[in-house]
Amino acid sequence: MAKTVKVNLAPNTWKLATQCVQAGFTPSIGGPRVLPIYQSTTYKYDDLDQVERLFALKEAGYKYTRTGNPTVAGFEQKITLMEGGVGAVAVASGQAATLLSVVNLCKAGDHIVSAATVYGGTYTLFGTTLKKFGMEVTFVDPDAQASTLRRAFRPNTRLLFAETIGNPALGILDFDKFARLASTHDVPFIVDNTLATPYLCTPLQLGANIVVHSATKYIDGHATSLGGVVIDGGNYDWANGKFPELTEPDPSYHGVRYTRSFKRAAYIAKARAQYLRDFGACLSPFNGFMLNLGLETLHLRMRQHSENALALAEFLQNHPRVSWVRYPGLPSHPSHRRIRKYFHHAAASGVLTFGLKGGTSAARTFVKKLQIAALVVHVGDARTGVLHPATSTHSQMTPAQQLEAGITPDMVRVSVGIEDVADLRADFDQALRSTR
Ligand code: PLP
Repeated sequence: MAKTVKVNLAPNTWKLATQCVQAGFTPSIGGPRVLPIYQSTTYKYDDLDQVERLFALKEAGYKYTRTGNPTVAGFEQKITLMEGGVGAVAVASGQAATLLSVVNLCKAGDHIVSAATVYGGTYTLFGTTLKKFGMEVTFVDPDAQASTLRRAFRPNTRLLFAETIGNPALGILDFDKFARLASTHDVPFIVDNTLATPYLCTPLQLGANIVVHSATKYIDGHATSLGGVVIDGGNYDWANGKFPELTEPDPSYHGVRYTRSFKRAAYIAKARAQYLRDFGACLSPFNGFMLNLGLETLHLRMRQHSENALALAEFLQNHPRVSWVRYPGLPSHPSHRRIRKYFHHAAASGVLTFGLKGGTSAARTFVKKLQIAALVVHVGDARTGVLHPATSTHSQMTPAQQLEAGITPDMVRVSVGIEDVADLRADFDQALRSTR
């Protein structure tokens, strides 16, 4: 009789494309093929003992949709596999994800070191709002020498934060340098992987311990749904004395010790048990459904976004109305060589910036004349969008502060969509020519 060989085809062995399409949900026989929307706040039980075990975190299950929901869990499980983590918590927005990722580790009196090139909303959250709650953040130039960066750390530093691709400066992070810094100072390293997505880069394989996303961007991919997610790499030793909230009994949760009860998933278990419960910034089941649907085509879209962005960047580089182009996929970009080192593909996502000859007044004409691309405050949509940061996202800053943040009056940011790039080139060309 022929011997059957058991082949391991578990979802954690799948290639990313297969995970995009199929991970996170196992249909039952005769059940729905597609992850359903469980639009229910509550779950039914037969006896008090079961509910007691759930509330004591002794049994996994759903209690109330603020702290967990089967549709949201399908999305969480898929992105966990794609990033190579041990668990995830999905939340209402990218901002909520960033906040949750840091307050799960820091309290009043603690200190954070962050790249200064992070998304503007993260900069404000760290520099202004966390300060009001007694946490202090030192911003550093991620491209500074390691010896300079080391000076930012203090005995009360509790984490290091950076973005894979900075938004909107578009520098690719030097993962080796940052991972070494975090490990030298024995603090966890949190990476916002929004613009790269796990299609291009998986920071947990490059020394990061926690990954966050604004799922609103490429994960959704169609500009329909806000969402965020925090993914735990399960690769940090919380028992180094700096994180007693993970190792000592939690009085707000029956004295649970997260590292003892949840082992490698201690961080993400604590995030759900304490802060999803207390802050309430949960992802709705409908948005969980939409984000899961978005992930199903992430690998195809990211390839096309990147191809189109490179083609448009090359076109803009040679355009008489354009004075400069910044795109990490261009060999002229200072961090271009990091693509080969850290990314899974020779691709650089869909966001680029360029300088328009004629500054703000030319930008006003340019956006008015666009016929296919539209003026929007967003990135990661299948549709091409443009933004003039100096008069929108960064308009609260003084001209001097804008310059310091790398925002010049001539700068246009483009989130390149997945349309036919010949049409995009034609649209940009006619709009640029009208600025003369
Ligand atoms: N992180 C990055 C890199 C972003 O670009 C954004 C939003 O633009 C956020 C976080 C915040 O995400 P959200 O708008 O979903 O709150």
